[in-house]
Amino acid sequence: MKRIVQIGLLFLTALIAASSARAQAKPFAASGEVQKIYDHLLPQIDRIPIYDNHSHATFPDDSDMDAQASPPDESTVLRLRDSNPEFVAGAKALFGYPYDDFQPEHAKWLIEKKKAAEKAGGTAYWDSILDKLNIETCLANRVALGAYLDPKRFHWVFFVDSFLFPLDNRDQTGKNPDMGVYIPLQEKVLKRYMQQENVTGLPADLAGYESFVRQTLTDNQKKGGVAMKFEAAYFRSLYFSDPPRDKAEAIYAKFHAGGVPSNEDYRSFQDYIFRVLIDQAGKLNLPVHFHSAVGIGDYFSLRNGNPLNLENVLRDPRYAKTKFVLIHGGYPYTLEMIWMTAAKNVYTDSSLVGYYVYPSELKNILKQWISLYPERMMFGSDAFPFNDAVGAEETFWLAAHSARTAVAAALAELVAEGAFTEEKALELARMYLHDNAARLYGEMK
Ligand SMILES: [Zn+2]
Repeated sequence: MKRIVQIGLLFLTALIAASSARAQAKPFAASGEVQKIYDHLLPQIDRIPIYDNHSHATFPDDSDMDAQASPPDESTVLRLRDSNPEFVAGAKALFGYPYDDFQPEHAKWLIEKKKAAEKAGGTAYWDSILDKLNIETCLANRVALGAYLDPKRFHWVFFVDSFLFPLDNRDQTGKNPDMGVYIPLQEKVLKRYMQQENVTGLPADLAGYESFVRQTLTDNQKKGGVAMKFEAAYFRSLYFSDPPRDKAEAIYAKFHAGGVPSNEDYRSFQDYIFRVLIDQAGKLNLPVHFHSAVGIGDYFSLRNGNPLNLENVLRDPRYAKTKFVLIHGGYPYTLEMIWMTAAKNVYTDSSLVGYYVYPSELKNILKQWISLYPERMMFGSDAFPFNDAVGAEETFWLAAHSARTAVAAALAELVAEGAFTEEKALELARMYLHDNAARLYGEMK
């Protein structure tokens, strides 16, 4: 009898230990457990259709692919150099590429295949790329949506930085060689918008300019635009002050017909117009995208691109109705970034990060985000043509594979340490890869 009670007590103690181990996350998983859960999760995660929050789906010779161009002397991160064998793997998976490198005589095979697809026209080619990667919907950052992109699958995100540069840009362009490339392109986009709106010259006063700005956003939305995008971090700080309207009005009156504004005046004018843009975005329920991360070029300022610069805007009750999407995860400030999304109208994505770093590091970033605000994080490919051979196609492949494996690994670690069940893990994976974005753009409840 005594023995039975002892055994019973032992059993009870063991039971309590087991259930408390399940309830409290632990820092280590049993060896082999993470791998087992990963192997179980990954095939299910592969079947989740992706909603891609940020891409530049394009053929490499299409000048509408971006409102800016690559600066003259770019230093590329290791993973994005032509020597990365992953790009070969992507070309093999997508096209059956028969070579193991991109030597010019080999790359020719791939370039010809893509040129033939471009020449054939129609939307089937890019739809088929998305199909091969199980990407359902994709936002396309472009000056205009190309005829070869199926509007059912590719949704247009248009650029708005050009509205910040209507005055004489001589001093802006002369700041450094990168700006010498960027600013003339902004002037071109502004001219295009003026043509679109039948505006022949800059309006005579600030009120006229403001209504031109607001009307262009309204019309771009009618043309299918689902969000507007600032690349401002390439040109200036993401810190926007709050100047009174009469100050902006005086600067516009003085310089709209000519004369070079001082840096200080131009900055104040831009800060005011920026606020007109985000105010209109709130009224139109048009999400506002920001490049908020490192950037290409020899003169990109990390400090200027830090997402913390936007805090005064994101936390301003006047813009509580505006949805802000800080793309590229604020990289390398990914931890600051996820805390910015504590505000209900702020979102982020893993575009760019997902191909700058390898999946082992992306896993760590996603794990931290999932642990904090899993309903604010989205997948983004930042698919982009690097040259005539390695195109947006291969970068779609690289980004999708990296994100699926990294999120599976992050979730496997969390399940193994007892944070939540596998079922919950799959729900979190669906939120990251699809649902959060589908909800943000109103395609899902
Ligand atoms: Zn991009």
